[in-house]
Amino acid sequence: MERLKEGYRRFLSRADRRLYESLCGGQKPHTLVIGCSDSRVIPEEIFSVGPGELFVLRNVGNLCCTDNPAVAAAIEYAVGHLGVSRAMILTHGDCGAVKAACHPEHLEEKGILAWLGGESYSGDSLEEAIKKWGVRQLERLSEFPIVKEAVSRGRLQTQLLFFDLESLRMDIYVGDEWLELGV
Ligand SMILES: [Zn+2]
Repeated sequence: MERLKEGYRRFLSRADRRLYESLCGGQKPHTLVIGCSDSRVIPEEIFSVGPGELFVLRNVGNLCCTDNPAVAAAIEYAVGHLGVSRAMILTHGDCGAVKAACHPEHLEEKGILAWLGGESYSGDSLEEAIKKWGVRQLERLSEFPIVKEAVSRGRLQTQLLFFDLESLRMDIYVGDEWLELGV
């Protein structure tokens, strides 16, 4: 806990109190991010954004299984109530969830099995499998009624990104191909 207390002390010393005060009345994030719980992939850090900008749902493997109430609620709240203009699936290199799906026979724990059991590993390399995995999540997101409607009205964009931990390269899925995100 000392590590975290020290971190909190440092946060207090440099926190933008005005920004926090301005956010007290409500939030108006521009982007919904569905990312992985992986400790190495922190959306706010990667995109250099502060409090109030991203509405984030992180789970094991950045799954967008919209039949799950936690996933459905996050999407409905972000798109329907907060009016985000972008809904993003953020995948990443070396994803343990995708690796686990490569060896489903090793999925023993009830919770992990229930969560990842329906997913599949496909592709010749881990990166390819992660990207295909991401495409399936994007399809689910795009098929979700509130997302479908918002996209058809032109007030929401859906996106799929891949963040490579080793090189810090970011790829974006456009049409049906992956391109390096231009910066
Ligand atoms: Zn992951």
